[in-house]
Amino acid sequence: LKDALSTSLRGLVGPEGVADAGERRFHVDATESQGVSGRPAAVVLPSSSDEVAAVVAWAYAHDVALVPRGGGSGFAGGAVAGPDEVVVALERMRAVRRFDPHLWRIEVEAGLETATVRRLARESGLLFPPDPGAAEQSQIGGNIATDAGGPHAFKYGTTGAWVTGLEAVVPPGEIVVAGGGLRKDVAGYDLVSLLTGSEGTLGIICSAWLRLTPAPAASRVVAAAYRGPAEGCAAIEAVLAAGVVPAALEFLDAGALRAARASYPFELAADAGFLVLAEADGGNAEVEWTAHELVEILEVGASDLAEPTTRADVAALWRWREGVSGAVTAVRGGKVSDDVAVPVDRLAEAIEATVQIGARHGLEACSWGHAGDGNLHATFLVDRTSSDEIRRAKDASAELYEVAVALGGTISGEHGIGMLKRPYLDLRLSVETIAAQRAIKQALDPKGLMNPGKLL
Ligand SMILES: Cc1cc2nc3c(=O)[nH]c(=O)nc-3n(C[C@H](O)[C@H](O)[C@H](O)COP(=O)(O)OP(=O)(O)OC[C@H]3O[C@@H](n4cnc5c(N)ncnc54)[C@H](O)[C@@H]3O)c2cc1C
Repeated sequence: LKDALSTSLRGLVGPEGVADAGERRFHVDATESQGVSGRPAAVVLPSSSDEVAAVVAWAYAHDVALVPRGGGSGFAGGAVAGPDEVVVALERMRAVRRFDPHLWRIEVEAGLETATVRRLARESGLLFPPDPGAAEQSQIGGNIATDAGGPHAFKYGTTGAWVTGLEAVVPPGEIVVAGGGLRKDVAGYDLVSLLTGSEGTLGIICSAWLRLTPAPAASRVVAAAYRGPAEGCAAIEAVLAAGVVPAALEFLDAGALRAARASYPFELAADAGFLVLAEADGGNAEVEWTAHELVEILEVGASDLAEPTTRADVAALWRWREGVSGAVTAVRGGKVSDDVAVPVDRLAEAIEATVQIGARHGLEACSWGHAGDGNLHATFLVDRTSSDEIRRAKDASAELYEVAVALGGTISGEHGIGMLKRPYLDLRLSVETIAAQRAIKQALDPKGLMNPGKLL
């Protein structure tokens, strides 16, 4: 059967458009450390929207399920396929269809890496603000399909805020265009927003029009340490109350700090149990003012405060922040990490609850993340070779989702539902809301062949 599938697909996209389904990179995403993997029946690599449409039409005619795949950096198992499913990997569709720097816009194919889009923008004095942590690996299509966030989502919003148009293939193999290279368009239902965050369950995104913005002339960062979450979160709320708008407002709790403090580039008080990082960006005068305000606010109650001024020191601090996830993994060799989000005034409770839940399950726990958005990477540390510890960590995660929802929050702030959180969606959404979502799914994908077993 597998050979027959690959032969049919070769007929649609040519021999170079079909990959070896045994290649390991098509079996996993970033949930591999939690033991998630799957071997698809076939892997197809279309090179144009017409080829994507031909693949979807063929799948609909033959009742074959499709799993769209971007860079495979997702944290929800969304791109992991089952044995009867065909992976549609967008990696050969990475053209820049059009770039108008003077009009602050670019149209790219879905398979272009996030980092390449950011680099192209930067080279023309522009900024594509979404900055999810695996930007070298993730693709624009994957970012849109998960509405990815990142540290700068606090000021600039998530990926969806920067998408003005999409070309996608929906069942039974139609190319649909929504929006475009224009900044306003309210003609009809907002299909751009519907496909954004749809995790490959409604269609395959082929290309996107992205909005860009002039790059800020300068940026500065302030790092303030506190005794614990209560003091640190009070400082975060004080920043908001003062009306200062940092570009990013991040935190690390005591456990995350412990894991990463050896490489922290500045002095850090021995009793520091919480760290706040706040970045100011904008024109030179604006950055001076914002950084000054941030220092004034954050130094209240802080045990240490660093305000690096050189480009090298600022870069060192962000490099260190990017390494936090790896440093936490290194403590025990594995981790089960989440992305729950709560209203910002409940952040301290969520941080403390994470540690308590971990303790109840006999696991060390910590969190860090996007404080300004109330979005925490609540993490349970495990030995990745211990199935018992991984099981306990998953139980702990289930408890964490309940706590997040009880605090008025959500089970996923940025990574999506995928296959991992699908059993918990009803914690967040009512029966009626899920029914409305199912009606949308049924209308666009009546045979349920687009990424089955994910999201809904
Ligand atoms: C170290 C690290 C740090 C990260 N940091 C962040 C962060 O700060 N913020 C954040 O939000 N995420 C973060 N992530 C998660 C991940 O990078 C993002 O979710 C990213 O957007 C996934 O993109 P991808 O191209 O790798 O998608 P994949 O993992 O390939 O797929 C993700 C989902 O999108 C669907 N999909 C992919 N391409 C398409 C397409 N063209 N059309 C339709 N559906 C498609 C897939 O079916 C799947 O459901 C991080 C991951 C890692 C490993």
